[in-house]
Amino acid sequence: MRHLVLLSGGPDSALALKDVLTNTDDPVVVLHVSMIPGTANPHHPSRWEYELSAVRRLVDQLKTIRAFEIHYAKHIQENFVCLSDLLILAPYAAGLCNYYKDIEKIWTGDDLEQDDGAIDTAFKTIVMTAIFSKRNPTTNLNIEYCPIPGTNRSKQQIREQLGETLWYLSWSCRNPSIDARECGECESCLERKIVVKYPTKRKCSI
Ligand SMILES: [Zn+2]
Repeated sequence: MRHLVLLSGGPDSALALKDVLTNTDDPVVVLHVSMIPGTANPHHPSRWEYELSAVRRLVDQLKTIRAFEIHYAKHIQENFVCLSDLLILAPYAAGLCNYYKDIEKIWTGDDLEQDDGAIDTAFKTIVMTAIFSKRNPTTNLNIEYCPIPGTNRSKQQIREQLGETLWYLSWSCRNPSIDARECGECESCLERKIVVKYPTKRKCSI
C-alpha cells in the first residue's frame, strides 16, 4: 500500500508526513498544489510563494528520514472562486490515486473539528467521485482519509512532535508582509503565537 500526503508547507501537514515516514515502511508520495491568484497584487507578496518555499525546505529536511516521491502542481484561482483549499485539492488527490492505483491512505493537516468535519466529508466525496471507478477500474477504492495531526491538537503539541527544526522550516502566515515577514495578525499567525514568541516577527526568504 501507498500513502499520499497533501503537504501545504504548514506544520500540521509536515507532521503528517513526518509521522508516515517515521512510523511506516510503505512507499509515500507527497503532493503540493500552489494556489496562485489569477490577479496578483503587485504591491503584496503572494502567500503561495512562501508556502512553496517552505515545502521545498521541509522536503529537503524530511528526505533525511527516508526517500519519498513529490509532485508539484499549480492551480490558478480567480477571486470569485470561494472554495476551501481542501476541496480544490480533492481532484488532484484523486488524479494521483488513479495514477498510482495502490494509494490506501490520504493524509492532510486539516482539523476535523473545524467546520464540524463538513469540508472533510466533502473532500472524501469529491475524491471518490473524481476517481470514477468505471473509467479507472484498477484504482484502489478503499481509501482512508487521515486528517490526524491537525485534529484535537494545539499548535504547541504540533510543535513539540514536529521538532524545532521542522517547525522553523514550515510556514503558516496567510498574509505575509511586503518585507517577507509573517503578519503576526492572521488566524494562522495567532495560532502559532508568534506575536508572543517573536515580537519582531519572523522574516523568511522565498
Ligand atoms: Zn500571518
